[in-house]
Formats: sequence, structure tokens, C-alpha cells
Amino acid sequence: MWAFELSVDLIVRNARVGSNPDIVTDIAVSDGIVQELGAAAASGDTEIDALGALVTPGGVDPHCHMAQISSTGVPTDDDIHSGTWSAINGGTTTVGAFAVQHRGDQVRDVVNAMVDRVSREAVADVALHLILTEWSESIKSDLDWVLDRGIVSLKIFTTYDRLRLAPDAVIDAMAAAGRHGMSIMVHAEDDVMITEGRSRAIATGLTDARGHQESHSRLAESAGVAEALRFADRADVPIYLVHISTAGSLDEIRSARSKGAAVTVESCPHYLWLDEALLQGDLTTTAAFMSSPPLRGAEDREALWAALVAGEIDVVASDHSPYRMDAGKLPNGNATVFTEVANGMPGVEMRMPLMMSAVADGRLTLERALEACCTTPAQFLGVYPQKGALLPGSDADLVIWDTGVERTVHHRDLHDAVDYTPYEGLRVTTWPSQVLFRGQPVGRSSSPGSASYLKRQVSS
Ligand SMILES: [Zn+2]
Repeated sequence: MWAFELSVDLIVRNARVGSNPDIVTDIAVSDGIVQELGAAAASGDTEIDALGALVTPGGVDPHCHMAQISSTGVPTDDDIHSGTWSAINGGTTTVGAFAVQHRGDQVRDVVNAMVDRVSREAVADVALHLILTEWSESIKSDLDWVLDRGIVSLKIFTTYDRLRLAPDAVIDAMAAAGRHGMSIMVHAEDDVMITEGRSRAIATGLTDARGHQESHSRLAESAGVAEALRFADRADVPIYLVHISTAGSLDEIRSARSKGAAVTVESCPHYLWLDEALLQGDLTTTAAFMSSPPLRGAEDREALWAALVAGEIDVVASDHSPYRMDAGKLPNGNATVFTEVANGMPGVEMRMPLMMSAVADGRLTLERALEACCTTPAQFLGVYPQKGALLPGSDADLVIWDTGVERTVHHRDLHDAVDYTPYEGLRVTTWPSQVLFRGQPVGRSSSPGSASYLKRQVSS
């Protein structure tokens, strides 16, 4: 142990930064950056005594939809301000959001508009991915410019009429991304099976959430995953598979990895915590729990937990998709059918508390939770170790956790612009007691634009 020599802006004393409760350290912060970890003799202008509480780096959530239009054509109810405010209150200080090139849009226009919005509205730092819904020579020629603007990942869809690329375009987009050193995120579900399942559900009068479940079947996901892995192999690029929800998909991934495939695998808290039984019943309640892929059953959940513990799932992201029940979820009120429901659930604020509760409950080690929620997503975003780490030189984005609490989740305690949480009534055992963003305690409000657009770099 050594002592800090200079006085600093802030010292967080008696912080537990690892799994051993007997080892505490002091964290010295100046200019919003972690200076040192050790035994601090010097004083800070501000001092916070963590009293031995767990302190982690702020969460990094690489998959959040904010200020975006859904696949059904309705806007998310969180803009960048409310979405990042919700994130930071849940201990997530960096989010990956999306600039979307809808058909007919110019890539440069959508990227510039989103970067501008982030700069004006964000209260947690934001990195961007670019969703492409078309593939053309002119888009291809814009990729150098996109990289220059600090976007290093493309996202493509293999399903949804408004979003999907044709299979040959998928392969060519993957190859082009690879040539630029960009990564490519794939929403992989088999469009033929989904379209067929949807028609069959409607023809048989199945118009509620079960129709969605029928069409976005387990097989549709694992078939889409298998195809995406084959395409990536053909294009010779690493891929990032978003929101994996089934044991069958994990089998496909295992098989591809055994042959050398470079794939980063993401799952989400709703697939780890929530059961498909929530999709039984009237759409006026079940729409809240509709996502794509849909919630699955106990067997898939057990497989996901085992894969997360084993490190086969690399990232846990929220896929935050904030649609209000009185808006995008039920656009036609009681007469809404499943094809009209905006899919997805809000979750950016709950991801870290859920995962840290899983640590406290002994389901997951602290190390695995931090890898899945901080380190690996920061590396994927190309912002590590500025983000996702608690090291000298990292941004002082810190979360002091209350562990061993008994708390019931209520939407009224959350900070998003939605009107529900899918975790309403759930008991959790860990909650953020204080969040520091770039060395500043997060208070009762935060002025829009106080955070930054993170220009990303291709990692070497
Ligand atoms: Zn998503």
C-alpha cells in the first residue's frame, strides 16, 4: 500500500472493489478521471465514505433504443434525455444507441442528426451504432465517413419488412464491414418462418400475444442464428448476435465456435428473469411483455443462465425498447392485434440492479457480472478502458451499491418515460445507493447535454 501525495477533487473511501468483503480501498478522482486506487492519506475536496460497500464501474449497456422509430413505425417513448436519465439512475453510465437509416434516408443525415441529439440531450455518455435497412454502392462508399464520425458497428436485421436486408445484401454488408474493421450486429431470426407463422396465426384467429409467440418461434431464432453464422463465415468477419433467447441458438453458436467462428453473444435480462407464461391472456396486459424474440420457458432460461455462468454469453444488454401501453404497445386500444404491437420492453434502469442482485444471491460471480455488463460491452463499443473499468485513467463513473436490501420493484421509482416496468413486483436484493458520473454525484436532476457523444475507435 502506498499513499496519495497530492490532494484531489474527490476521494471515495473504504470502497470494496472486488468480491472479498475484507479488502477495501480508496479511490482518488481528479478532473472526472480515476487517478489512483490505494490508501489515501491526502484529502479530497469532496469525500464520500463508502463504508465498505461494493463499488463498481458504471454499467455499459451496448443495446438501447432511444429516440428511434420501431419496426411498427412508432417512436420510442424515451428520447435521449429520458433514456440516459433512466440508465444513469440504474447505475449504467454509458449506453450504445442507434442511428437508423430508414429506407430512402441518407446515411450522413441520420448520423449527423443523432450525434447532434446526443450532444444536446444526453446525461449519460452515448456511443452509436448504425442500423442499415438498405444496402447500396452509395451506402458502402459512406462507410469511411461513418467511421470518421466515430461509429464502428453496423446493425442489420434478417426479419421485419421495414428493416430487413436480403440475404445477399447481408453477406455483402458483412464483408464490407469486415474490410473497414467494423463489427456487425445481427438481429437473427428466420424471416420465412416468421412470415409463415404470422399468416397461420391470423388465419386461425390467433390475434393475441400467442400469435407473436407462434411466429417468432424457437426454431425461427435458431435457424436465423445458424444462417447468420454461416454468412459471417462466408464473409470472414466476426459478428455480434443480439438478444439470444434459446438453448437451440446456443447449440448453433457452440458448434460454430468449435470451428473457429468469432462471435460475441448477447442475451438480455428479460430472457433470464421472465417467463413466457406472461404472454398468456388478453393483449391489454400481455403487450407489455411482448418482445422479439419473445419470452421463453424454464428450459431455455436455465440454458441461458448456465451459458452466462460459463462465459458462453459474453454480454448482458437491456435491448431497452420503451413503448408506453397507452401508445405504441396498444395503438388501437382494446382492438389491437399482435402484429400492431411495438415489440420490446424498457429495461435499461433495471439491468444492473438485476445482475448485481444475481451476484448477491449467489447465481453469478461478481467477476462474470462485471465482464458481461461493463468490460466486454465497453470493449465491443471501442471505449475500454475509458469506460467499463475501474483503473487509473478510466472515467470516474462509479456505482456504490446497497447490497443485502429487500426491495420490491415499482415503476413509480424508475426514471424512464414509459408507463410500466415488466419487473413490477419483483424482489431484488441490490440497488444503487449512489452513482457518480465523471466524478460528479448524480443528483435529483441532470441538465440535458451534460454528457458526451463517445467517438469510438476500431479496436486493433
Ligand atoms: Zn434491439
